[in-house]
Amino acid sequence: MDHFTYRQGILHAEGVPLPGIAASVGTPFYVYSAATLRRHFQVFDEALHGMEHLVCYAVKANSNIAVLKLLGDMGAGMDVVSAGEYRRARAAGVPGERIVFSGVGKTREEMRIAVAASLGVEVPVTLRINPDVDAKTHEKIATGKSENKFGIPLAKALYAYGETAKQANLRVVGIDVHIGSQLTDLAPYRAAYTKVAELAEMLRAEGHEISRLDLGGGLGIPYEATNDAPPLPAEYGDVVRDTLGHLGCEIEIEPGRLIAGNAGLMVARVIYVKQGAGRKFLILDAAMNDLVRPAMYEAHHDIVPVAAPAPGAPQEPYDIVGPVCETGDTFARGRNMTAVSADDLIAFRSAGAYGAVMASEYNSRPLIPEVLVDGEQFAVIRRRPSFEDMIAREAVPAWL
Ligand SMILES: *Cc1c(COP(=O)(O)O)cnc(C)c1O
Repeated sequence: MDHFTYRQGILHAEGVPLPGIAASVGTPFYVYSAATLRRHFQVFDEALHGMEHLVCYAVKANSNIAVLKLLGDMGAGMDVVSAGEYRRARAAGVPGERIVFSGVGKTREEMRIAVAASLGVEVPVTLRINPDVDAKTHEKIATGKSENKFGIPLAKALYAYGETAKQANLRVVGIDVHIGSQLTDLAPYRAAYTKVAELAEMLRAEGHEISRLDLGGGLGIPYEATNDAPPLPAEYGDVVRDTLGHLGCEIEIEPGRLIAGNAGLMVARVIYVKQGAGRKFLILDAAMNDLVRPAMYEAHHDIVPVAAPAPGAPQEPYDIVGPVCETGDTFARGRNMTAVSADDLIAFRSAGAYGAVMASEYNSRPLIPEVLVDGEQFAVIRRRPSFEDMIAREAVPAWL
């Protein structure tokens, strides 16, 4: 559920009409709904009722400091994967004890920043295990199979826990697992968490403290309105309770996409409609550098006009593309839409996660702004850099 709806024929973010934001900040831009973010956090929090738990929002999904503050103020912890994300979480006012530093390769410098600043000398750690479970998602975002780079193989877990326990500055407190992203089936979670439960019993028998289970994120969202809806957080919570509840551990979960994905849109303007050989191209002012998911993962985003079409208006297929000089700069092929003209505003749904954070300045296109709406008000939470800003980061050596 989100708070992007048509009112009097115009798509709104909560109480704010999108054309008003476009007039104020220019296009393209990202817009997020505070009410949707809050609701998604609450749904997860409620899904784990009855178990001691912390919902650690996965910062990488959408790392804007305003988004982090909104969630942090509701009691969310933060799952960070780099020193930069750690700094953002702290800048948003989240205390160190609510921050989990995940990640496949932490540099010495990152360890120093995270540990020295927040925790003193003894660091509570959970070791990420690789349960060798197929998450049945896109191969680029599956992380729980033995061939993936993530985690310690189960067969080596006992040894790894033994070695970790010998380190003076580390205190083993539990187990960590994250099997992938955009999961639309609960069975892989059940399989992975069952293995985690077995490992927990085994480690306890060896004398290790297992009081915290960090279960990762990954629950999928419906990118297509016509799709079967993925499982609800409450159903996911039931799987956690069934497989792990008896262990009496504190449960941490790390949802990213499900909290931020449907809480955001990317809004673009049509530059022109080009009649190609046998197909019509909708050329937008947004491109693959602004929203890379279609180019990178063949991802689907519902794309809708900001001005609602007349009921029953005929549709025709469009290839929806950006102006970047690559054929990969294609958002959708043969997408049926009602007639669109130059200067119309178009909205990409489900763009709140892995949208702005994955943007680049390819083709020297400045990063697009981010806007947060809360009820009737909106604010720019990341401004569009000027061309001067963009160029000022570079330097020409004196000897050139
Ligand atoms: C990416 C990631 C998440 C969040 O995944 P979502 O699919 O956005 O919920 C959580 N934990 C870890 C360790 C991750 O790498």
